[in-house]
Amino acid sequence: MEFIVAYSFALEWKVRDMYISDKVDSLKGIGPKTAVLFEKLNVETIDDLLRLYPRNYLSFDEPIAIGEAEIGRRVTIKASIQSYVDVKKVRSLTLVTCMVKDGSGSVKLTWYNSPFLKQVFHIGQTFLFVGVITIRNHQLVMEHPEYYTVQQYEKLQSSLQPVYPLTEGLSNKVVTKAVTNALPLLDQLVDHVPEQVIRQFSLMPLKEAVRGSHFPENMEKLKECRNRLVFDEFFWFLVHMRIMREKTVKAENRFPITEWTAVEEFIGHLPFSLTKGQEKAIEEIRKDLSGATVMNRLVQGDVGSGKTAVAEMALLATVKNGYQAAFMAPTEVLAIQHYESVSKELEPFGIRTELLVGSTRISEKRKIYEALAAGKIDVLIGTHALIQDKVCFKNLALVITDEQHRFGVRQRALLSEKGQDPHVLVMSATPIPRTLAIIMYGDLDISVMKDMPAERKPIKNCVVGPKYRPTAYKFMGEQIKQGHQIYIICPMVEASENVEAENVIEYRESLLEVFPDNIRIEYLHGKMTPDEKNTIMRKFADQKIDILVSTTVIEVGINNPNATVMMIENAEKFGLAQLHQLRGRVGRGDAQSYCIMLCSTERKEAMDRLEILNQSNDGFYIANEDLKLRGPGDFFGVRQSGDLLFHLGDIYNDADVLKQANDAIAYLEKEQYPFEELVNEEVIQGVQL
Ligand code: ADP
Ligand code: MG
Repeated sequence: MEFIVAYSFALEWKVRDMYISDKVDSLKGIGPKTAVLFEKLNVETIDDLLRLYPRNYLSFDEPIAIGEAEIGRRVTIKASIQSYVDVKKVRSLTLVTCMVKDGSGSVKLTWYNSPFLKQVFHIGQTFLFVGVITIRNHQLVMEHPEYYTVQQYEKLQSSLQPVYPLTEGLSNKVVTKAVTNALPLLDQLVDHVPEQVIRQFSLMPLKEAVRGSHFPENMEKLKECRNRLVFDEFFWFLVHMRIMREKTVKAENRFPITEWTAVEEFIGHLPFSLTKGQEKAIEEIRKDLSGATVMNRLVQGDVGSGKTAVAEMALLATVKNGYQAAFMAPTEVLAIQHYESVSKELEPFGIRTELLVGSTRISEKRKIYEALAAGKIDVLIGTHALIQDKVCFKNLALVITDEQHRFGVRQRALLSEKGQDPHVLVMSATPIPRTLAIIMYGDLDISVMKDMPAERKPIKNCVVGPKYRPTAYKFMGEQIKQGHQIYIICPMVEASENVEAENVIEYRESLLEVFPDNIRIEYLHGKMTPDEKNTIMRKFADQKIDILVSTTVIEVGINNPNATVMMIENAEKFGLAQLHQLRGRVGRGDAQSYCIMLCSTERKEAMDRLEILNQSNDGFYIANEDLKLRGPGDFFGVRQSGDLLFHLGDIYNDADVLKQANDAIAYLEKEQYPFEELVNEEVIQGVQL
């Protein structure tokens, strides 16, 4: 009896003691050191851990016949042991070899330093071997294959093993175990999506979806689970949009902007004539700004279509009519770039421009806050720093956000709240098909700039294998001689065991060996401090760097018309839209530009995908082709849009789920559901926007 009491007490104690909101180190087996590592993955609480979804799953393929194995590709074969295991000493190594065969051919298996295998493999037994097949001395060889008994393999084949995003020092095994230990707390997870939506759209219960995303039974089930999670992301996004629209759409225009002579003058002084798209966009903006209700407009134009000039005209008009304006960019580098061009181009018109970014010194910030409130600054340009509490405008009439897809709706709303119903202009290069645009930007009118500046030469593209690298370097050398600059993009920052991707730091070192000493090579990546990044970008803009080796931090909006070559390593690892954005960093001036996509796999699908980019420089065309090409099985791996807005969802890949979420909103609207109630503090905490 005593024993039973003690036992049930222990159980109770365990249940009561743990909450989903507890820190991860309250889980068994996670100490403070591991907790610090988890923090690097933005995982602090158990809840966060449960929402740390695998980035991939290992599945065990059907074995294929040896005779059909593709050389150089990882395959599974099912074969019987044909020869005695041979153990040989080669210098300090022990080399173990063994011949295996199936009905279609034979392969020589080799291992190093594993003499015990002699006891494992016996002639006539069948095993499954997983590895890469190569040819050596006219003989098929598999080096260091993993091996499984038939039984073991069958068991593995029926399951999917999660592969988590990792950080140095944190292994997949540890994360998997931690998640396993956290699963019982899933019961505490609250589903905030209204009951009737769950019923009406037959959504899978949230708990089941979370559980199944970690440990799916099979691919089909995984897709269902993931769809539910993606639904949530889209749903909450759309709820916020819907609330925003209600607030803004019918607001009266408190800041009529009717005086446009300065803009005419500005256009007259431009070193180029406006494209049709630019003309149309500014005309629409002008109508909005002088109209009866407040402007809410998206200008969508492909990379290099000249959106900044359109923004500048809107800024100029606003200030000339006696108001202030704000211009927000997603990164410091981009904010600085905008600041430099806007201040230079608008200064002749007597416009006072200031820059406010995270790394602005405190004393400087204070001065800016004061001047802003006193109306001594006309245009404030910056990053998220603009939406901080201390920033108060005197009479903010126009808010522009660049590369809008990088900001959540909430940030956009916060900036608008800096004024009293200011006009809103958002600019985006994300080439998104119209049907999706209407959902994503439901609260905005849309101007599309389809054409490119006339004298711009189309970028020349090529998709090549790693063998082409030396030729590419030689070509770069010639471009540099002509005074041009080069970007090289690598997917990763530091070498990592798990990803066979080139990385910027080592890559730069290897380039230093290839190029002569007078070629200046630097690197840039997301983990550098803002100051370091700014310094590098400054030097690149001033043409003090010839080759910039960078991760995708470069992708958003950077404008250096002197750069003519963009080489992308491991191009197959990027989404099409992202590649298109990257490519958009060149071809921004008069000189012929080139984009070299280096593909390190010869897989047909990868090549086909890249071929779309090879054939076209038109972002809208690419987005549409991409949609056609993609099959339903393609739901993790490459994120097509490269947008940070959603963690799991992808507006292209998950277009059907996006539509479903949109239907859910329409359904709630019909039911006259009180949307405001949906977005209380508690809900917002669980939803990332
Ligand atoms: P994005 O639309 O990608 O933001 P930008 O506004 O940065 O493009 O413009 C890219 C480059 O094109 C800039 O150097 C800009 O000065 C130039 N540009 C903009 N409009 C025109 C035009 N109508 N004709 C020629 N060049 C232009
Ligand atoms: Mg831009």
